[in-house]
Amino acid sequence: MSIKITLEKCIGCGSCVSVCPGSLIEVSGGKAAIYDPKRCWGCASCVKECPVQAIALYLGEDIGGLGGKLTVRQENTLLYWTVLLPSGEIKTIITDRQKSNQY
Ligand code: SF4
Ligand code: SF4
Repeated sequence: MSIKITLEKCIGCGSCVSVCPGSLIEVSGGKAAIYDPKRCWGCASCVKECPVQAIALYLGEDIGGLGGKLTVRQENTLLYWTVLLPSGEIKTIITDRQKSNQY
């Protein structure tokens, strides 16, 4: 399991660096990079923090993710979890950060 960073979108803010519990991401030359993807355990913290949706979490077929890519957009307390499947199908789940105990 790992993430993919779209460099064209990355603004080099460093938010992903500060939240990764494994310290796997660094910003160099104004762009983020994951330098040891095999150690990523897919917690999605960086995906949630990125303000420009530059980070996608790869959802492998081995975990039932069908090879999709997960991104998260935040509006106030709401998180819009979007999965883009290889077929082009898009699925979105909306959760509220203030009601996280419900999920
Ligand atoms: S998904 Fe979690 S472990 Fe993987 S790079 Fe992002 S913050 Fe780090
Ligand atoms: S949080 Fe997003 S925009 Fe900021 S450095 Fe990381 S990938 Fe780039």
